[in-house]
Amino acid sequence: METAEHTLPKLGYTYDALEPHIDAETMSVHHSKHHASYVAKLNEALKKTPDLKSKPLDWLLTHLDEVPPSVKTAIRNNGGGHLNHTMFWQLMSPNGGGDPVGPLADAIARDFGDADEFRREFEAQGAKVFGSGWVWLTADDGGKLSVVTTGGHDNPLMDGLTPILVNDVWEHAYYLKHQNRRPDYLSGWWAVTDWRAANDRYAQMARS
Ligand code: MN
Repeated sequence: METAEHTLPKLGYTYDALEPHIDAETMSVHHSKHHASYVAKLNEALKKTPDLKSKPLDWLLTHLDEVPPSVKTAIRNNGGGHLNHTMFWQLMSPNGGGDPVGPLADAIARDFGDADEFRREFEAQGAKVFGSGWVWLTADDGGKLSVVTTGGHDNPLMDGLTPILVNDVWEHAYYLKHQNRRPDYLSGWWAVTDWRAANDRYAQMARS
């Protein structure tokens, strides 16, 4: 049976909806060029490995040992790029901002002290990523939260952690507006953070 190819997900908002915090040109290039190219290259790699076409992305990224060496790097980079960006778009909203909500708010208070302490830690870790990567809020199997970073398009799933919130600190995510000032991008990003979506991810994890 022919399995459907991976496709670029539609955003839940327009390219200019996150202005002024993320400008429309950055959103357009980021989604329609960068993310689209990861999807295209992932599909290209999977054409060479038909047995893997039906595997979910999170399976591929956690079973790279079972991926043929000839496509392993392509699947790691482009599969990770597709999965990470798909999560990232869902964790932002023009109606975002404010403080954490629901059980996630309680867990942040428990594990970081309060939301401001969490935000400081997330910004500090994101600012320290050398080169291209991502900064994450993750939960372990017991629900304990941590801030971690990954290089390239690696995802914390690869280390057995569940991603709850993520920000993209590749230069393509902020350079048109902020140039070298990544800390400004990180501190401004809280205005578009979708805490309800993050709490949904946390609550869903607690149930599974
Ligand atoms: Mn990106």
